Amino acid sequence: MSDIYEPPEGLKASAHIHAMQDYRNRYAESIGDPAKFWGEIAKGFHWQTTPTADKFLTYNFDIRKGPIAIKWMEDGVTNICYNCLDRHLPQKGSQIAFYWEGNDLEDEKTITYSELHREVCKFANVLKRNGVKKGDCVAVYMPMIPELIISMLACSRIGAVHSIVFGGYSAESLAARIIDGGIRTLVTADGVWRGNKLIHSLEVVDQAMAIAKKAGHPIEKNVVVRHLIRLHHGNGSASEKEAYEKILASSWNNERDSWWEDEMKEASEQCDVEWMQAEDPSFILYTSGSTGKPKGVLHTVAGYMLFAATTFKFTFDFRPDDVYWCTADIGWITGHTYVTYGPLLNGATSVLFEGTPFYPSNDRFWQVIQKYKVSKFYTAPTAIRALMKFGEDFVDKYDLSSLKVLGTVGEPINPEAWLWYHKYVGNSKAAIVDTYWQTETGGHVLTPLPGCTPTKPGSACFPFFGVIPVILDEEGKELEGPAEGYIAFKKPWPGIMRTVFGDHKRFEQIYFSRFPGYYMTGDGAKRDADGYIWITGRIDDMLNCSGTYCFDFLQLTPQTKMPLMHPGHLMSTAQVESALVEHSNVVEAAVVSCPHPVKGECLYCYVTPMEGVHIDASMAKELRILVREKIAPFASPDYIQEAIHLPKTRSGKIMRRILRQIAANDPDLGDTSTMADSTIIPSLQEGRRKVV
Ligand code: ATP
Ligand code: MG
Repeated sequence: MSDIYEPPEGLKASAHIHAMQDYRNRYAESIGDPAKFWGEIAKGFHWQTTPTADKFLTYNFDIRKGPIAIKWMEDGVTNICYNCLDRHLPQKGSQIAFYWEGNDLEDEKTITYSELHREVCKFANVLKRNGVKKGDCVAVYMPMIPELIISMLACSRIGAVHSIVFGGYSAESLAARIIDGGIRTLVTADGVWRGNKLIHSLEVVDQAMAIAKKAGHPIEKNVVVRHLIRLHHGNGSASEKEAYEKILASSWNNERDSWWEDEMKEASEQCDVEWMQAEDPSFILYTSGSTGKPKGVLHTVAGYMLFAATTFKFTFDFRPDDVYWCTADIGWITGHTYVTYGPLLNGATSVLFEGTPFYPSNDRFWQVIQKYKVSKFYTAPTAIRALMKFGEDFVDKYDLSSLKVLGTVGEPINPEAWLWYHKYVGNSKAAIVDTYWQTETGGHVLTPLPGCTPTKPGSACFPFFGVIPVILDEEGKELEGPAEGYIAFKKPWPGIMRTVFGDHKRFEQIYFSRFPGYYMTGDGAKRDADGYIWITGRIDDMLNCSGTYCFDFLQLTPQTKMPLMHPGHLMSTAQVESALVEHSNVVEAAVVSCPHPVKGECLYCYVTPMEGVHIDASMAKELRILVREKIAPFASPDYIQEAIHLPKTRSGKIMRRILRQIAANDPDLGDTSTMADSTIIPSLQEGRRKVV
């Protein structure tokens, strides 16, 4: 039984939802009468044509009955950009929408709602002048700068579909997204400083356009933001400038490329919005690629808008005086929903951060929180784990007393990291919201609410309004009470994806074919006796423990002296990872299942030790004892490999599928296009020989 953390008293008193009974009542309403529940919420938005109750939701979730289809508020007409900006102007025109904090300490600026509105209108006119029309798809490849948000909203304003490509992706990844999206128009930047590293995006974009052109997809227009301020202000070194000029000269094409500032000079500040049908496409975004080739997830206008706004409001208990900061890059869904749309739809003031947690020093996050008096902070377990290793002193130096809600997303958070976040960042006074969701779900589907939910470290707790989770067994049977299995959803909520772009069959096959009647997430979960849900990781990262149990002769039952049998019991490797990182000399761990000649499957663990520490036989022994004590003897790792670096997606998630292939000595690693640093692969392969 794990400890329970009650919501902080201060929050509880004033929260939108401050009692579990209130949550339960509203949740019951949301699933009992979705049209009524979301219809009430929809009243808070601007509609050109209000959706009618009888067309509020039509759907088919059962592949056996016909194609999968989901439609919310079908006859409603609205515009998401209008709701993010124009709607707020009378009251909030001079309010700050974003505090932009650049890579360097001296790079900062603010942008108000009316300034943002003006820039968006101008850029929308630029797009129109360049031939972009409603329904066209525009790709944006940029660092975390205001122009990225301006581009997104300009697309939304004129009904163009944006496809944001994370600014750290390679030319191949960008080209693949240009081709898949049928893109003719690009918005990019000339480059960016990440910490001390200068990245010449001009070169990457030029290469991507060459690849796309060869494949029959030429880019007609590429608008480039001049962002390398330090170079332009004369601060770069002579060799950096020379390299820049060279790249500019060789890649620039006057027919195709133009500078943002030149385009904007002439643009009018007036731009009418394009009124959109609720189910018109809004954007495409590719998943992170943790489990395979990324999927082009398509979201539509009105359902996504409602869900982004509502989850933001309740999960972070949004207040008008908040300063909110989500550290995710806009290239991921977290950035779409919780940097851009959710906060703007609520009229919030946010921090937009271009830098990294480690530059110029490892306390940058805490510095920024203190500087802007951030009250709601949202980041990922990978960042928390990375920062934990610098010790509490790095946090203690700063005044973080403004913090009220701390969010986490992206991977299961191990209790050790949760507790550190709670104690040292939140000073035991802030609520932690462990939000579980996916690119596909559009917004939070499982999350505590900060003013009412008693939390358990490592659990995403309960469903958000309108979401009906179930835990299924191998046969697709719903499991009641405490159980472990596959997490799926029974009915659509407004923010669920509508299709895989250009491939509806793939959409049906990935999400709806294995368990007809349900949306399958691809994740495993368990429900405890109190009804709390714990995400245990990817289905691919679960292993069938029966093999492990059967042949673990060390664990004999007292009566029969026979090995324990637990046929068909699914175990997630995340539990083992959690136990391993409790060791004081371990920074991070990734555990995968590996084929075993006798057991069928066994546990193969990659462990990153603290700097200066090596995993020798005695540390391996300590680790095995730790796992035996924390979980059970059958979970004791078969192999432990020291790994200085783990393979991660560019969004910071561990790519266990790569580790599985390496453990199995399979040279085919599959799609590595979304991997942050593939140069670490040889050392991981090499390390196989030194397992302990
Ligand atoms: P791909 O689908 O291409 O393999 P991905 O699943 O990593 O990539 P995302 O949509 O960015 O792409 O991530 C969603 C996944 O992240 C979830 O399915 C889940 O595995 C994990 N996840 C997100 N938030 C949490 C959380 N709070 N707890 C546990 N897991 C989480
Ligand atoms: Mg996924």
